Amino acid sequence: MIYALVGNQNSGKTTLFNALTGSNQHVGNFPGITVDQKYGVIKGTNDQVVDLPGIYSIRPYSSEEILTRDFIINNNPDAIINIIDAMNIERNLYLTLQLLELRKPTVIALNMMDEVKANNGSINIELLSELLGVPVVPISAVKEEGISELVRVVETTAKNRSIPKVYDFCKPGPVHRCIHAVSHIIEDHADAAKISARFATLQVILDDQQIKNLLKLNDNEVEAIRHNIVEMENERGLDCEAAIADMRYRFIEDVCSKTVLKPKKSKERTRSINIDRILTHRYLAIPIFIVIITTIFWLTFGPIGTYLADGFSAVIENIIAMIETVLTNYGINQVVKALIVDGILAGVGSVLSFLPIIIVLFFFLSILEDTGYMARIAFVMDKLLRKIGLSGKSIVPFLIGFGCTVPAVMATRTLPSHRDRKMTILLVPFMSCTAKIPIYAFFTDYFFVEYKALVMTGLYFGGILTAVISSVIFNKLAFKGNPVPFVMEMPNYRLPSVKSVILLMWEKAKDFIQRAFTIIVAATILVWVLQSFDSRFNVVDDASLSILASLGKMLESLFRPLGFGDYRFVTALVTGLIAKETVVSTLEILVPAGITSVLTTAGALSFLTFTLLYTPCFAAIAAIKREIGSAVKTMGIIIFQIAVAWAAAFMVYLVAGAFI
Ligand code: GDP
Ligand code: MG
Repeated sequence: MIYALVGNQNSGKTTLFNALTGSNQHVGNFPGITVDQKYGVIKGTNDQVVDLPGIYSIRPYSSEEILTRDFIINNNPDAIINIIDAMNIERNLYLTLQLLELRKPTVIALNMMDEVKANNGSINIELLSELLGVPVVPISAVKEEGISELVRVVETTAKNRSIPKVYDFCKPGPVHRCIHAVSHIIEDHADAAKISARFATLQVILDDQQIKNLLKLNDNEVEAIRHNIVEMENERGLDCEAAIADMRYRFIEDVCSKTVLKPKKSKERTRSINIDRILTHRYLAIPIFIVIITTIFWLTFGPIGTYLADGFSAVIENIIAMIETVLTNYGINQVVKALIVDGILAGVGSVLSFLPIIIVLFFFLSILEDTGYMARIAFVMDKLLRKIGLSGKSIVPFLIGFGCTVPAVMATRTLPSHRDRKMTILLVPFMSCTAKIPIYAFFTDYFFVEYKALVMTGLYFGGILTAVISSVIFNKLAFKGNPVPFVMEMPNYRLPSVKSVILLMWEKAKDFIQRAFTIIVAATILVWVLQSFDSRFNVVDDASLSILASLGKMLESLFRPLGFGDYRFVTALVTGLIAKETVVSTLEILVPAGITSVLTTAGALSFLTFTLLYTPCFAAIAAIKREIGSAVKTMGIIIFQIAVAWAAAFMVYLVAGAFI
């Protein structure tokens, strides 16, 4: 058996998915994070459940809506679990009505019942179930209440293939007549295409092109349908979309008035509204955002992070020293020992020593997300983003981009229009990903000990600024048109959950450690080999005679105007394409004496700027190619990024050179 989990954003789908499967998917207090569908097996059964992205309706507008619609129509799940936020039951039922029209076995999971009860609300479950014609199970996903009952009901419903009993939501009138007339025309086509006629009818009325294509209507039929719609619009005095929405909301109002005793406006809601008076204030919102982000970076790269990183580095150094002693006592071959100690251990050790900083940064970011502040950032930024030609929804990929470009590029799938998607994909790599943190930390340790937090914050904002400027230019030149408007709901503020924060930190740490021991070890070995041997595979005493040096020297002149025309830095940039952290391990191997000996301060700033902006790693390139679909365009993006990085680094070098 396979079940689809469908519901509005923030209705608790992922929480329920975790409760059902015992898995640990990240639950966000931030709408729109779940992009891909996730599969899991329900504990104690062989049944699969799929967590689909959150949607408010099945109009054919956004990719999430299309994905959900296609999943239900094409994969034909044995049952749909429609999760509803009982605190916002009216709005949630809108999607429910559309699901009922699909005429597949459906069960409603009425979530957040704990909150309804806590705020003195109540819902007549039996009557609700009767009016909607499907089983309704009250649950609390967070408290794991009602979960086993839900599983039992879903299994029975799927086994008996019980189809919703109610699917007609209109009262006699023009809309009713129109639906029946259109339904009559397309009935046979819908049967042939194996889609519910009722669902197809409404989608056709709302001009869902894909459904129309599936139905293979002939010209006469299309004309007849159009005629019916025009007639209905005239009689009703509304366009068809509004008329249908009105019909659905009337039905919902009627159901709710009979079944729901409204909970008081919850304490949490009132508190949230009060907090928002300040945090999303017209003038204060953005300064507050900047203060919060700067404080986080200051704490991370200043007192807390450095303290932890120093301690951790000492531990790593001790371990490396121990291994070296063991190897020496064992009398191992000198070259092998050099490979292990100076190559692998030094490289991986230098990357690993940044682990505490990454954990601390993610500790803060996950708190921002969990408290609900992240969603406010999106809201506040929406107005600004609109001015530079981006949709407010782009903020989601951008914020994820501060973690890693790969999921950020994937998250652009939540954007409703192609134009917004392409712009966002192009700009996301300018958001500084976590893999670059070790590079910044490494350089600031050498050059800007006093101004660490300032340089870090400067880099982050520099990336954002570059994205803004590029966006304005693109908006004028290449991607004309307006971003699609979007609605997003503000979750209540709440205290961050320890579990969720720890989980996110652990995921990031695990990811980082895995990379350190796989990709980065491999890259380190490669760099070490290339720099230890010459082209005849003799061990070289002077690294400048190595294979690596001769390769790097070919590119040196390109980077001379940027102040780091040295094969060692060029090589570091090239290995950075494998994974950004390798820039550090490469430099650690190539410049054992410390980079201050071969680089000026202005050169360091220029190098940092280049690293910030140039093409992210191969994994990100692959993700971009996958989303854009064209190798030529992907090449174009890479060239664009390198050109921007070069130009920006050149300017930074000129300016810094004049002042420092
Ligand atoms: P999704 O966007 O539908 O996947 O929703 P999530 O699973 O990420 O949950 C959204 C928010 O609602 C999270 O902050 C959850 O902790 C919270 N939540 C989920 N289920 C419940 C519930 O039964 N009761 C309460 N009080 N909160 C819940
Ligand atoms: Mg989710």
